[in-house]
Amino acid sequence: MTIFITATVVASPYSFAGTRHSEQRHVNDAFKKDFGRKVYLEKKLPKASIEDVYVIHFIIDGVNLETFNQALAGGRLPNIRRMFFEEGAVFKSGLSLFPSTSSTVYQSYATGLWPGHAGIPHIQRFDRNRLKLVDYLTVSDYDTINSDQINLRTLMNPKIADLNTPSNIFELLSGHPTAAVYSPFNKGAAKIAPSVPLRAFWAAYISGDEARVDQLAFAEINKLYGDNLEDIPRYSLVGLYSSDINGHRYGPASKEVFEILTQFDLYLAEFEKLLAKRGIHEKTYIVVSADHGMHSTGKLFRLRKALEAKGIHVKPNNPKDKGYTLVAADRGVSSTHLYVKHNDGFSPIQNASIIEKHPTLWGEKIDLKDIILKMDASELLIVRNGDRKARIFGREGKTADVECYTVNYVDYCSYNFDELLGDPLGYSSAENLRQFLDKEPHSTFEWRAKTAELEYPDLIMAIGTMFEDGRAGDMFLTVRDGYGFKKIKAGGHGGPKIEDMRTPFMIRGPKIPRGEACVIRPVDLFPMMTKWFGIDVPSKNHDGVDPFAKHEPEDKIAVKLSALESLLEKYPPISKMIGVQDFVLTKVYPLIDPKDFDAIAKKAWDELGRRHELSKKLKAALDNMNKQKLRDDAPKVVDPDYLDDHISIVSRALERTRAGMVELEDILIILKSCKSIDSVACQGI
Ligand SMILES: [Zn+2]
Repeated sequence: MTIFITATVVASPYSFAGTRHSEQRHVNDAFKKDFGRKVYLEKKLPKASIEDVYVIHFIIDGVNLETFNQALAGGRLPNIRRMFFEEGAVFKSGLSLFPSTSSTVYQSYATGLWPGHAGIPHIQRFDRNRLKLVDYLTVSDYDTINSDQINLRTLMNPKIADLNTPSNIFELLSGHPTAAVYSPFNKGAAKIAPSVPLRAFWAAYISGDEARVDQLAFAEINKLYGDNLEDIPRYSLVGLYSSDINGHRYGPASKEVFEILTQFDLYLAEFEKLLAKRGIHEKTYIVVSADHGMHSTGKLFRLRKALEAKGIHVKPNNPKDKGYTLVAADRGVSSTHLYVKHNDGFSPIQNASIIEKHPTLWGEKIDLKDIILKMDASELLIVRNGDRKARIFGREGKTADVECYTVNYVDYCSYNFDELLGDPLGYSSAENLRQFLDKEPHSTFEWRAKTAELEYPDLIMAIGTMFEDGRAGDMFLTVRDGYGFKKIKAGGHGGPKIEDMRTPFMIRGPKIPRGEACVIRPVDLFPMMTKWFGIDVPSKNHDGVDPFAKHEPEDKIAVKLSALESLLEKYPPISKMIGVQDFVLTKVYPLIDPKDFDAIAKKAWDELGRRHELSKKLKAALDNMNKQKLRDDAPKVVDPDYLDDHISIVSRALERTRAGMVELEDILIILKSCKSIDSVACQGI
């Protein structure tokens, strides 16, 4: 990835005054004048009180699990073997997330959020309000990944109900030294190193000295950790790109990638010595992971061209051409997302069937999914079907629905494939998944555990969350083996399959149990780190869960409540329903045992209370934003650049919450009245 010219050129404007180095501030101000975005609201935090520990996270970018294991088996990684396999914890299934790119995954390590909860859907997005492409990898938008980051979980937490509450790990460590070293995501980092990454850019793209990129990163680390003891970063997020550059250039299991891993192993041992010398070795947690894996590619998918040949007006580079009906954010990886124009312009589509009647330049209506899935390179088309719903189309007509619900801040999602047409993800052939393919929603943690080793690891939750903030496109397209967009490369990533999705993941540190651990998602690092630092963060503010915690079986009552919500959603509210009794008899009774009615009703009542409180808070937040939009003298609650964007995110969240309340009220009426179908109460509904 060509991150070096751009993403780390200057300190984030969100850095906290006082912790920023002065020379960096100078560069920053000068740069901001020309290119930088004006950031209106800088939320300041008091200095956090934390445990006396250090965390450093090395991301060996783009190394898949197989390549890593080969290097290990070949004896190339003796220091890693000792430090982690003997003295730390190594995860059997380190997971990336879909879309498997640096932007989406680096942010999730630092925020604990799925991309669709963090406003960072891919390496590029289309701004639906301003109608322009936002690219996280160009000079003009270099810092947008940081200003883009929002937190949908804090928005849905009634105690906060805000998208911009500082909540990533850099922000939570406010007042302490922290560092982002060659990390595109650095919102809130006290130090961004290097301030101008020209030498790495030169090494990677001009002189062809790929290994030098990591050497420069370690030079920065040696500087940071050789500094005054009180200036050593409590948390460092380190991007090591040499492996990714070589993987793209020479292939994911090339000797050039192995050489980078050997180099990393040696540097790591040196770094460990430095920690000992500084007297902080016993207080330091070291995390090694990749952001995503990689697979061999080499064939080019000219999606734009193929769409244009069918008469579809795809957004061209010429800004004067405004007649387009489709936007492809297809910058050079093995997945892309597309935005579809419809009656409401480019607002997020709420129904997947919209893509079946797409206008062409020749005045016809065509079915986008048929056209796209007939292209040789296409594999899966994942179409938005609501904020938390998607329809997956595979080849040969295979179709499935993903639907998600939340009970007490835990996500429950169902995967429901068409039995006649076939299962696009092939999950039905996995023995251990049988009981979860009963058409009912199941907990996010079950999906994590049960799909980690399948062909499409952990895809259900990625799909169930990716459309929620509305910043992602209306469709994600993944490609068949060997294909990539925009440019021919030897290796690619960005897709949902096992080579991109499984990564090395290991940790050592004061409180880490030794031995093999099970499975970890990128979002799961965040709650571990906050625990190490002793920062109290409510689990409702992020998507992760401590991977060392005992795996509790899912809450069966919450599963049933989600199943009921899913059912009620597909019918008119009972106040407008004809034949409620019949509905209960034929639809509810087969789903729920009447002996569970009271327990589910109790849960539904609690959930209704939460949503009631949330809807009031969301309404107030929306009112304040609308005031800011309409009146000059109103308080500025949101960065004006993001005002329209936030208004649409919060409006949809409010709508969703209110719709869910109607369903919960109906669920309560049914559960309270119809324990016996012949009761007077049930007949009286
Ligand atoms: Zn890459």
